[in-house]
Amino acid sequence: MSVVDRVAAPPAHRLAEIFVDRRAIAQNVQHFAWATQTPIMAVVKADGFGHGDVAEIALANGATWIGVATIPEALRLRAQGIAAPILSWLNPIDADWESAIAHRVDVAVTSLEQLYAVGDAARPETGPARIHLHLDVGMSRDGAPSDIWSALCVAARALEDAGRVRVIGIMGHLSVADDPTSTQNDVERLRFVNGVRVAHARGLAPSELHLAATAGALHRPDARFTLSRVGAGLYGIDPAGIAPLIPALTLTAPVAQLRRVAANVGVGYGHDYTTREATTLAVLPIGYGDGLPRAAQGSAEVTIRGRRYPVVGRISMDQIVVDVGDAAVELGDVALVMGPGSRHEPTAKEWATWSNTIEHELVTRLGVRSSRVLRTADARWAR
Ligand SMILES: *Cc1c(COP(=O)(O)O)cnc(C)c1O
Repeated sequence: MSVVDRVAAPPAHRLAEIFVDRRAIAQNVQHFAWATQTPIMAVVKADGFGHGDVAEIALANGATWIGVATIPEALRLRAQGIAAPILSWLNPIDADWESAIAHRVDVAVTSLEQLYAVGDAARPETGPARIHLHLDVGMSRDGAPSDIWSALCVAARALEDAGRVRVIGIMGHLSVADDPTSTQNDVERLRFVNGVRVAHARGLAPSELHLAATAGALHRPDARFTLSRVGAGLYGIDPAGIAPLIPALTLTAPVAQLRRVAANVGVGYGHDYTTREATTLAVLPIGYGDGLPRAAQGSAEVTIRGRRYPVVGRISMDQIVVDVGDAAVELGDVALVMGPGSRHEPTAKEWATWSNTIEHELVTRLGVRSSRVLRTADARWAR
């Protein structure tokens, strides 16, 4: 068996890289503003769904609010100079309410305990805490259960009178918006409308009413109210798979090693794959430690020089092996692992299908170790 090894030269840029196409994010935000005719809250939680700092791009292209899950995420944005209204909606009872109030971070409130905690943190010099009462309209996840809603509204009104909170908004979150025709959306929308009615009857006058996230904003005009909280859509993901959004993320990895092997050679841990004939194997320095899903084994492909090749054997922590056959692939060629699909590369949607997950999870998990380049994708990876 003749095995020829060609080992890569010392690292110039031997790393996987993530490119974030700022133009795509800009165009996606513009699409939402145009298609919904509703103010947009750009949801940038979890490091912008793995895309890095995108709040500024979103605000420059029509978003007027920023949404995050946690107060630390919101404070980080304030430290970066983001001045737009920011809402944090997943706040533990002992959250840093003082900092949130001091930095004008709006917080969602789902219980009386939370309401009193945030009200207690308000100081005369900072003014009242800005809160959004969050009603659970059907997810049975976060949000106030309907049986405490009236009491929550009454207590919030009392704290408003005491100058401790200001109810800026009322929010809900749809559970099956990715299926726009489901009647469950009608049920949940009605619960939201009733919740708003109860709040008004208890003396609250919130200016912001928001129920829709990406799928609701796109496909359920009746769920838009005064504001749409758009996360996935910013990055090019439509959970319903209908809207013409542009995936913003491209993941590349250079060919770090090429190896000619004979037929009947086992590849990778467990020898799950055996070569059928003599072929060339290319090693890419990216694996599940970088967020590639191990479950994509057996289906995954990458694109090199415009052609698709199968990822063979197990996906390791740091590397994958690609069977490139007899193709003229060279060391240093840049493989497109994932992208918008415009260069025959696999999309996040394909990777999600291969690994039985959703695009959201895939893009959010990428990049622990990859270097991220936040700029318009350019010719560097387009060869
Ligand atoms: C994550 C999240 C969003 C954004 O949802 P997308 O479907 O990604 O647009 C909106 N609202 C809440 C409460 C969320 O947790």
